[in-house]
Amino acid sequence: MAEKKFGGSNKKSLPGRETGNRKKTVFKKDNEIKEKTSAKRSSLDRKSAPANGRMAKALRQGKTDTRRNDEVHAASRCPYFKKCGACQMIDTPYDKQLRQKHAHVKELLEPYTKVASFVGMEEPEHYRCKVHAVFTHDKKGNPLSGIYREGTHEVVPIDSCLLEDQKADAIIATIRGMLKSFKIKTYDEDNGFGLLRHVLIRIGKNTGEIMVVLVTVSPIFPSKNNFVKALRQAHPEITTIVLNVNDKQTSMILGDKEKPMYGPGFIYDICCGMKFKISPKSFYQVNPVQQEVLYNTAIEMAELKGDEVALDCYCGVGTIGIIASPHVKEVIGVELNKDAVKDANLNAKINNIDNITFYNNDATVFMQQMAASGDKVDVVFMDPPRAGSTPEFIESLKILSPKKVVYISCSPDSLARDLGILKKNGFKAEKAIPVDMFPFTRSIETVVLLTRT
Ligand code: SAH
Repeated sequence: MAEKKFGGSNKKSLPGRETGNRKKTVFKKDNEIKEKTSAKRSSLDRKSAPANGRMAKALRQGKTDTRRNDEVHAASRCPYFKKCGACQMIDTPYDKQLRQKHAHVKELLEPYTKVASFVGMEEPEHYRCKVHAVFTHDKKGNPLSGIYREGTHEVVPIDSCLLEDQKADAIIATIRGMLKSFKIKTYDEDNGFGLLRHVLIRIGKNTGEIMVVLVTVSPIFPSKNNFVKALRQAHPEITTIVLNVNDKQTSMILGDKEKPMYGPGFIYDICCGMKFKISPKSFYQVNPVQQEVLYNTAIEMAELKGDEVALDCYCGVGTIGIIASPHVKEVIGVELNKDAVKDANLNAKINNIDNITFYNNDATVFMQQMAASGDKVDVVFMDPPRAGSTPEFIESLKILSPKKVVYISCSPDSLARDLGILKKNGFKAEKAIPVDMFPFTRSIETVVLLTRT
């Protein structure tokens, strides 16, 4: 299995490309752990779709039916569609998006189980609570901010995007507007001059906390205190501002060094009643509304009684396990990324959870070790990256013989493949529920319940 090395999907970098004599790096959105979602991310990293005047007004009035435009992107509701093209379904009415995605997932999964209707969003716009803008300037030196056109280093300037949180877009616009008066130059990759490279905004939707990350090439930020003061004056809702230094030609947006310029340097969010710490680099789902729906669906499917030993495989920062922990006797989480495991332990502590243990290991190796030592578990939650799980993981699952497996997948293709392997190993898919985590893109997230036959 070529994709068995999941690490590849952890790093969301595109290969750099050569332009002229200078090596250019094509940036992806952030330093996330989870690249469960190359379709997801490839579309979303390139999130664009600003609402132009007429469309924005129509949206405010709740008129989202773009039937006449449907898939006629020449007349896209997003003026940047042609340059960005990230949201393949931006001009498809929402109910039709869901029907199309449903048909696709049904085709792949119906050999194994029935597929319930898609759980969509009531308000599918502006769901992204993590927003990145790359900063550059035009020929006259005027600052611009936007996104990279997919696979290139060209910046598509945008003011607002239909997928992004509007407050985040407003903060980015304010920062752009402040640069001239503070004499802060945007970084120029061709000659290495300038300071500001990127701005990343993260919002805890359920706490209202907002983090602004200013990514610069140097730790020296001129008039730092006044800049912070002016930014906070314009947006008092900002709860922390972090200076992140990235002086490397790298595909990562965030560098290793960072220090708070204001506030604690992180935010909290609440999901399904549990509190999670979000640092600039932490992985946390970008659609908080559907994140709750997804986790609740997964946990409800397991019909927990309270006496189970549950595994949370590919646990990231421990979200599913922590949310499930009050409903079971014990949770064991396993995750490959050691920073995520650190965050998971911290999140367990914040929530005073003492029946959960996280292990930093490859999930397949961990399952094989558990199987070899004769352990038994009752319920397994598995939420692998886009490439899916491995046959060896599933063979060990058979030995561990849980009564229920809840498989959360961001790729119906690898899910269908794994359901086939699970079936051969004695697990029957009982039901599948797709949850729309990424409206306007083709990405499909599905939760499947399997029982031991
Ligand atoms: N369940 C979490 C994260 C899911 S994303 C959530 O909902 O937030 C998939 C996770 O799998 C990522 O955190 C990634 O680091 C992890 N991962 C990737 N390959 C892995 C492997 N071989 N073993 C264990 N974890 C892995």
